Amino acid sequence: MAEAIRKPELGRGERVLPGVFRLRLPLPWPGVPHCNAWAVAAGDGVVLFDTGMHQPGSLAHLERALAMCNLALEDVRLVVCTHAHSDHYGQAASVVERAGCELWMHPNHAHMKSWAEDPDAALDRRLEVARQSGVPAEPLRRYAAERGSRESGIAAVIEPDRELLPGVVVQTDLGEWTVHETPGHAPSHVCLFQPERRLLISGDHLLGRISLFFDFGYSPDPVGEFLRSLDVVEALHARLCLPGHGRTFTDVHAHIEGNRELVAEHLAKILAVIGAGEAEDGSEGQAGSDAEAGEPLTAFEILPRVHGADLSPMTAQWLLTETLAMLRHLEVTDRARRIPGEPERWAAVAV
Ligand SMILES: [Zn+2]
Ligand SMILES: [Zn+2]
Repeated sequence: MAEAIRKPELGRGERVLPGVFRLRLPLPWPGVPHCNAWAVAAGDGVVLFDTGMHQPGSLAHLERALAMCNLALEDVRLVVCTHAHSDHYGQAASVVERAGCELWMHPNHAHMKSWAEDPDAALDRRLEVARQSGVPAEPLRRYAAERGSRESGIAAVIEPDRELLPGVVVQTDLGEWTVHETPGHAPSHVCLFQPERRLLISGDHLLGRISLFFDFGYSPDPVGEFLRSLDVVEALHARLCLPGHGRTFTDVHAHIEGNRELVAEHLAKILAVIGAGEAEDGSEGQAGSDAEAGEPLTAFEILPRVHGADLSPMTAQWLLTETLAMLRHLEVTDRARRIPGEPERWAAVAV
């Protein structure tokens, strides 16, 4: 969706349903200009689902968004995080301290802790994965330099007061919200569902604009986990989705299908590239040419053949992670074979 030239983003709040407020908070990321927190009326205050990212002035953006809904930080009775990424959890410590409330979150948040507590070590590990995946020294150096400040976007690491697991319910004026584990995007990801109104707080599991991201390296098969999580959410039959980015949307089933199709499409493209035969419709004309006879390729060699060569370092990092997650899924489903080495390479499993 094309959008007009942007003004500097400010936190903004709006009521989307009686007792449900969308708090749109700015992000410093290219292509992802804001995220949502959701405030839901609960007694004399609100439950805050997600928090926005911690960065200079970010708490003021959250306060501004709340004020537009006649709310204040002190009205927050409970913070619930859909997952432990900085744009959803980053301000949890700040809000909990100001409001004097609890934080509830899924326990599998080691992926965040390692990043927040030692960003340098996390970056080094990421660079090592990239090197292992065949990324040459020069782009790696450039990427490390561009990361620059290495801020985590997380005010402070705090442990949840309560583990957000199936069986836990979040009480609000709209009724109870049930917890559904939806790993894939991140190991700590949950969705929250209000059954009578069929509302789904979907975090980053389902977004209005379908895009894939997998936190790779913390669980056996993020893509497989994501596909299973789509089944979990489909069975809820949600009517309205309150996502972690962008506007609410109603065609939840179509979004679930869209995600499945996109995953299948990327898997098929990668398989075609590593020599599992021709792409179904022949559209990947150039893809097969370098990889004839199933020549093993590094993830870095696979990436431009799937996504094109003209990528910014940030996009390339994102897509390298996605490609590794896809390759891993092909490996655990016996469709691709990892050939250990420096760097490691991948080949299709002959069928
Ligand atoms: Zn996320
Ligand atoms: Zn997000």
